[in-house]
Amino acid sequence: MTIFFAALISMLAMTAIVGLRYLAVSGAFAWLTRRRFPGLYAGLDPQIRREIGWSLASAAIYGFPAGLLAWGWQEHGWTRVYTDAGDYPLWWLPASVLVYLLLHDAWFYWTHRWMHRPRWFRIAHAVHHASRPPTAWAAMSFHPVEALTGAVVIPVLVLTIPIHVGALMAVLLVMTVMGVTNHMGWELFPSRLVEGPAGAWLITASHHQRHHQQYGCNYGLYFRLWDRLCGTDRGLGSFAAHPRGDRRGDDAGRSSGDGGDRDLGRRAA
Ligand SMILES: [Zn+2]
Ligand SMILES: [Zn+2]
Repeated sequence: MTIFFAALISMLAMTAIVGLRYLAVSGAFAWLTRRRFPGLYAGLDPQIRREIGWSLASAAIYGFPAGLLAWGWQEHGWTRVYTDAGDYPLWWLPASVLVYLLLHDAWFYWTHRWMHRPRWFRIAHAVHHASRPPTAWAAMSFHPVEALTGAVVIPVLVLTIPIHVGALMAVLLVMTVMGVTNHMGWELFPSRLVEGPAGAWLITASHHQRHHQQYGCNYGLYFRLWDRLCGTDRGLGSFAAHPRGDRRGDDAGRSSGDGGDRDLGRRAA
């Protein structure tokens, strides 16, 4: 019974951590958005309330397995998470981060494509696309079925592939920050990066924006690898014209392409 309660407390604690992390990071970028682009989220309060509700439900779905594994790791040595950086070659520290991100990206790409099949879209993915346009609060706005597909990834990886606890924190940081910034309605990164050679392979808000505009393309999470291999990459999206100018990260005043995201989102629906 004691073991049961210890595991339960760990799961509840992890749910609280995931929920608070979401509120802190989404809250910070929502605040930044309101400072940089006042009015960008105007009229979206009911949508934002729904995004927060679904995201906090997702926090429990992510938190329970993660909390159970954290408890099992501490008490019984489950997982391949290690704390002594000397246990594996030092090059494995950055390499493990890349391997985790690549595997997470592959899982996300294929489950995401599956959830765009009409039946599964209605069941599992319509909730995420109900955000039109998404905001910084939409990072974890998933139906429980979709949240479950996301929640299994890191637990399966830590059970099978060795990773230093610090490298795991780096993976979680990338996952959290990119999840929020890819939905916040403007490009955080400079156009030099987004439109340069690195941007040809890395996904930022401009790429995911097009997924929310057009649906049947740009399914990836961190990398454009699978989209490019499978012919589903349609390039970068554009952000609607804004009174304070362009929404690229460097305020270069550049505008590209095909009109307002809100209109495109509605048409695509
Ligand atoms: Zn999205
Ligand atoms: Zn989608």
